[in-house]
Amino acid sequence: MWLPTPLLVLLCILQLAACTEDFYNLLGIDKQASNRDIKSAYRRLSKKYHPDKNPGNTTAKQKFVEIAEAYEALSDPDSRKVYDQYGYEGLQQKKQGGGGGGHDPFDVFSRFFGGGGGFGQQQGQRRGPDMEVRVGVPLRDFYNGHTTEFQLEKQEICDKCDGSGSADGQVDTCGGCGGRGVKIQKHMLAPGIYQQVQVACDVCGGQGKTIKHKCTTCDGSRHVRKVNTFSLVVERGAPKGQRIKYENDADESPDYYAGDLWVTLVEKDPSLDEDNELKVDGTFFRRKGNDLYWNEVLSLREAWMGGWTRNLTHMDGHIVALNRPRGSVVQPGHIERVTGEGMPKWHEDGDSVYHTTEFGDLLVEYTIILPDEMEKGMEKDFWALWEKWRKKNGVDLQKDSGRPEGSVTAPAKDEL
Ligand SMILES: [Zn+2]
Ligand SMILES: [Zn+2]
Repeated sequence: MWLPTPLLVLLCILQLAACTEDFYNLLGIDKQASNRDIKSAYRRLSKKYHPDKNPGNTTAKQKFVEIAEAYEALSDPDSRKVYDQYGYEGLQQKKQGGGGGGHDPFDVFSRFFGGGGGFGQQQGQRRGPDMEVRVGVPLRDFYNGHTTEFQLEKQEICDKCDGSGSADGQVDTCGGCGGRGVKIQKHMLAPGIYQQVQVACDVCGGQGKTIKHKCTTCDGSRHVRKVNTFSLVVERGAPKGQRIKYENDADESPDYYAGDLWVTLVEKDPSLDEDNELKVDGTFFRRKGNDLYWNEVLSLREAWMGGWTRNLTHMDGHIVALNRPRGSVVQPGHIERVTGEGMPKWHEDGDSVYHTTEFGDLLVEYTIILPDEMEKGMEKDFWALWEKWRKKNGVDLQKDSGRPEGSVTAPAKDEL
């Protein structure tokens, strides 16, 4: 197909524009973003689009390459300045002028996370240890679902020296071991009989490299400890002890690719001081699987005479009414099951419709409190009342005090 030259040029420009999306957009940050913002955007996106995690997905791979390019350009203050002023073209010119060759996105990735640029063990890369952490969550957050954050101090590759440990970037091969990190020692076992033993090089500590000028930030160790903030989603009805995986978020090191961080959700002890805007009673609920337990206290009069109401404020603020009509007796220790007022049922598939419509039960256990002392007048009135009813029901007071005669049979009516 023949196209007039100006149109061809225009097409080429459009094409170029399409594959050089703005670096800031690409990383999802604005022009004022700090170096830290750039790093965290890269951290997040590069893991998301890493080809190991998106096998066969060419779009993700393309994105991974672009993100690495954007990160490289913006993380270096000099090249960021050039990019801000002259754009992508300016950056390309600078690269050509400075003789800087093409970049390898996996190289950028491995400089950031350590290891060989991949997640997998395919290159025989060592994997760092997993980390375990427990995060306390109040029961009402398990009930309502909650998005929160937690902080964790962990090991990171030193930013200042990019994990080289060297202040000037220069790392020398160790003279003691020739870079192998190990030395061969000969022991004479008997005259003329030697044993060769391989030991770690004492000059470089087995690293195979030496540094003249240590990085001042990490003191040559190549990593630092830093407090990181992680976001945490507690799903509605999430089980206690649920383990959530943060892939490759364990300690970082230039020597391995980071293992996984595992977060275990534990129920935080209830505390009354904490902010409780809804004034919910959630502090006093206890959870057992999908069911909730509640202890309700009744006075003697309430337990025996009925005619009472209690309004529990549930953990999302809705009211659960407990009540008995007049004349309805509640026995001490009685457990009442209120169906559908327990925990939302959590399902593996996350946004299942069930966990907004399926709930466990609420089990209310009644405790009856008797008065410490009876007011004199009341005691007299009650005594008279009992006497009257005993006589009316034909209860013999003399017999009543002794053992029952003959076989034990349940009285026709409860004796008050
Ligand atoms: Zn350093
Ligand atoms: Zn050495």
